[in-house]
Amino acid sequence: MFSGKSEELVRRLRRALIAKQKIQVFKPAADDRNPPELLVTRDNRELAAISVSNCDEMRAVLEEDVEVSGVDEAQFFEHELVDLVTELADSGRRVIVAGLDQDYLRRPFGPMPALLALAEFVDKTHAVCVRCGRSAHYSQRIAGGDQQVLVGDQEAYEARCRECYVPYSS
Ligand code: ZN
Repeated sequence: MFSGKSEELVRRLRRALIAKQKIQVFKPAADDRNPPELLVTRDNRELAAISVSNCDEMRAVLEEDVEVSGVDEAQFFEHELVDLVTELADSGRRVIVAGLDQDYLRRPFGPMPALLALAEFVDKTHAVCVRCGRSAHYSQRIAGGDQQVLVGDQEAYEARCRECYVPYSS
């Protein structure tokens, strides 16, 4: 949330394109903030992407000759994503996954904990706390009820640091 995850994903995938590698980029259909065929970052960078509802759909459209696979908002996928990206990586592909490691109650989010454990390289990007300006690790929900998955942006979440984070209850 607001930490530049998608921007970093797009930056790395663009570098792969410059290196003339074939890429495929997936995002969850549940994230309907932008057109389904585009990954759009908050700073308005765009990359062609494929919206899929689940890992079966992702598997069905995987192309054989892809060298770099990207997944955005990975926290919204089922745990099966862990097996799928492991298969891809084991087959020699590079896999770059971006996602929120914690939900709005700071609980590990979806398949992210396992992905973090299995990845060779992990970078945590941090947002800026809207209250105090320190480095922010948490998605403070500020509206919208208490379901874990709530696709939203500034109307529903704020980046907060540990000192400024307050557990949300609706
Ligand atoms: Zn703060």
